[in-house]
Amino acid sequence: MTNTTSVNLKPALRPQFWSRFKLSELNHSEWEALCDGCGCCCLIKYMDDDDSEVEDVEYTDVACKLMDCATGYCQHYDVRQHYVPDCIQLTPDKLPSMMWLPAHCAYKRLYKGQSLPSWHLLLTEDAVLTQQQMRAANIGVAGRCISETGITDEEMETRVVNWVTP
Ligand code: SF4
Ligand code: SF4
Repeated sequence: MTNTTSVNLKPALRPQFWSRFKLSELNHSEWEALCDGCGCCCLIKYMDDDDSEVEDVEYTDVACKLMDCATGYCQHYDVRQHYVPDCIQLTPDKLPSMMWLPAHCAYKRLYKGQSLPSWHLLLTEDAVLTQQQMRAANIGVAGRCISETGITDEEMETRVVNWVTP
């Protein structure tokens, strides 16, 4: 007889995990829950390839070709590396060389010993409130980026923006 009882195999989020455990100690669900979905790391940026530890980076409003610029979400997140092989899989060991991430990014903040931003969903536990507060804080690419498809290098240089702060 087939057992039809559904089992949730997703590891649970431990209470206040972000302040109680090191990044390397988080389970998969906790790690994923840190991402606020802002989409800023999918924007094309100018930075010194030789020194990615430095927060010296200029963001453009030009996004990766897989970005849905209206919603701000990756169109094929689960299989993204099939389309964009160099899409970075963020892991704790890569963080030291990813200080180009935006200042509000929870991964960068926790790595630097800072707290989560006050509007983070893990703190508000209210998705609508978080969205409102992120908009008020001028955070997120939805509705204000364009796809890299068809953009020339010359055009790219004119698309540097100041609404992403590394
Ligand atoms: S910048 Fe950080 S919080 Fe924003 S989408 Fe990228 S990983 Fe997530
Ligand atoms: S493949 Fe998806 S997650 Fe990766 S940079 Fe592009 S839009 Fe972002």
